[in-house]
Amino acid sequence: MDDRRYIQVILPLRLEWEPYYSVPDGIQVQIGDRVRVPMVNASYIGTVSAVDVIPDIDERSILPIISFEENLPRILPEEIRFWKAISEYYLCTIGEVYKAIYLSMKLEVQDAEIRERVRLRLQKKLASLQEKAKKTKKEDKREEYLNEILKLKANALTDTKEHPSIRTITLSPVQTVVSKQIGAAFSMNKTVLLHGVTGSGKTEVYLNLAHETIALGKSVLFLVPEIALSRQLEDRIKSVCPDVLVFHSKETFLQRRQVAITVRDSNCYFVLGTRSALFLPHHNLGLIIVDEEHDTSYKQDAPAPRYNARESAIMLGVIQKAHVILGSATPSLESLYNAEIKRFIKVELKERFHSGEEAEIRIIDTVAERRKRGMTGSFSRKLIQEITDALDDGGQVLVLRARRSYAPSVQCTECGKIPRCPHCHVPMSLHRNPDRLVCHYCGHTEPYTGRCPSCDGELQPLGAGTQKVEEELNSLFPTRRIARLDGDTPDTEEAGIIRSFAEGEIDILVGTQIITKGFDFDRLSLVAVLQADSLMGQLDFRADERAFQLLEQFRGRSGRRGKPGRIVIQTREPEHPVYARLSGSDDADLLAERRLFGYPPFTRLVHITLKDSNEKRLEFLSKDLRNALLAAF
Ligand code: ADP
Ligand code: ZN
Repeated sequence: MDDRRYIQVILPLRLEWEPYYSVPDGIQVQIGDRVRVPMVNASYIGTVSAVDVIPDIDERSILPIISFEENLPRILPEEIRFWKAISEYYLCTIGEVYKAIYLSMKLEVQDAEIRERVRLRLQKKLASLQEKAKKTKKEDKREEYLNEILKLKANALTDTKEHPSIRTITLSPVQTVVSKQIGAAFSMNKTVLLHGVTGSGKTEVYLNLAHETIALGKSVLFLVPEIALSRQLEDRIKSVCPDVLVFHSKETFLQRRQVAITVRDSNCYFVLGTRSALFLPHHNLGLIIVDEEHDTSYKQDAPAPRYNARESAIMLGVIQKAHVILGSATPSLESLYNAEIKRFIKVELKERFHSGEEAEIRIIDTVAERRKRGMTGSFSRKLIQEITDALDDGGQVLVLRARRSYAPSVQCTECGKIPRCPHCHVPMSLHRNPDRLVCHYCGHTEPYTGRCPSCDGELQPLGAGTQKVEEELNSLFPTRRIARLDGDTPDTEEAGIIRSFAEGEIDILVGTQIITKGFDFDRLSLVAVLQADSLMGQLDFRADERAFQLLEQFRGRSGRRGKPGRIVIQTREPEHPVYARLSGSDDADLLAERRLFGYPPFTRLVHITLKDSNEKRLEFLSKDLRNALLAAF
């Protein structure tokens, strides 16, 4: 019995422990090796996390492994350390971390199999393109097909190389100063926060750092909040480094797995990816860039691990001994605070590369407009004039309204009743085309008849959502081309609308926060924000910060080269501190507010969600938990 050897294995399950298994004689397993093992009534492929262990349970209860999966790639020790760090910080099991990666990268499939599948797919695609090129009668079509064939062939060649090739970047004098400051901070092993206004050339600074890192033979990870709609950055990076590996959740499993394989097999690589790219088999990493570090897409809410890629990048940096740089035009308060207490070193780029003035901001008080100038709909006279001027001048206009729908709620003119969602009890929104009432919490829908369900009185829309705003614009500017982009826009049409706007085929675009996606519009000269109050004061202590970031991003990106843009904000509360901060006062106030009200980063918040199919029991248990917590703290 004594010569049985024991290992511990990480399984893709929510287990609080790493179970023991025994290994038959003659098989040598190491940490990171893959084994198939039995668990309850099933079998799983797990990762060996410890070898030659002395179990603290009855050895007779330990089962042998089913097989040693020697053809599956070995997990690196640094990877396992990173999984552990994530599971400890975000309070989940290491198995849940493993499962998430397992699912997103198909860890159970062999490299050789993936390579073969990729090769076959490529062949099929090439054959079909060649066929099309042969058949077509149109010269420009043939050209297009031939170009695609060349591109495919070039891509097929991006197998492992010693080094990705990357062009040198010439920095401006200000950028050079900043890059020296970054170098100094890195040499003290500090995380850098690059606070640079939009258009200051943060991307250039990142690429210059990437170039230096690769020249030293080290790898680079460049994280972005989302790729799908902002291809521009991808194109920009590809023009500097054609060998860049792109990794995000919209790619197929096959492509993602292929990137994972290439990363593992390369001595030196450059990956551009979204948050899950943190979990690639990183090694020899020299630099991690977190672009737009304030962006909420970096946070994964569900399922576990509920991680924020910004914080996780710093953990990965420690494990990999890699430098980390976070950058944004509107850094998160958490990062600004970390800079204040010297955990990070902040460097600043205060001027735009193509000099040009910042957009001007005008605040319109809608309470006064309604009282004094008889404003009735969503647009004040002042704003209508601003839009007219911008359009007459050949510019384009974005109109932001934070609520999709025709009207956020409806009310009975007879009995005053407001129809609410039967499940969530929140007022239901009215949507047109087709007419229906929709709950924005759970998605519940009901047909809309215009009559009150209790007294059959007439229902009247209250307030205006994006659909209504679009309707008003159509009657105010009947000759202009107007479009809308919000949560009701089908996914398949989003990119098309953004493209038409970028190409000047739309004069006015109305939408919710979605319209900031893939934001780069040359002719955009006016951004109008309606009911800006609805951006603030939601039940979230970060709401004001997000509102500020959104407005500041608008400011950074409106205006054509050489011509400053304008931002017009309609609000009922013109004195709100967010507007003061936009007009240039500092960040200290928002941080002070957080301190005063006991919010992070001065405290830690834990959000506990309880679920049960029985409402009474849920209520009872919640009260119980509340009492237990009160007693404990
Ligand atoms: P940010 O990321 O800070 O918003 P970008 O990196 O997109 O700014 O730079 C804004 C514009 O200025 C881009 O068109 C970019 O190509 C140009 N630019 C910035 N720095 C340089 C540089 N050193 N050399 C050439 N062009 C630059
Ligand atoms: Zn509901």
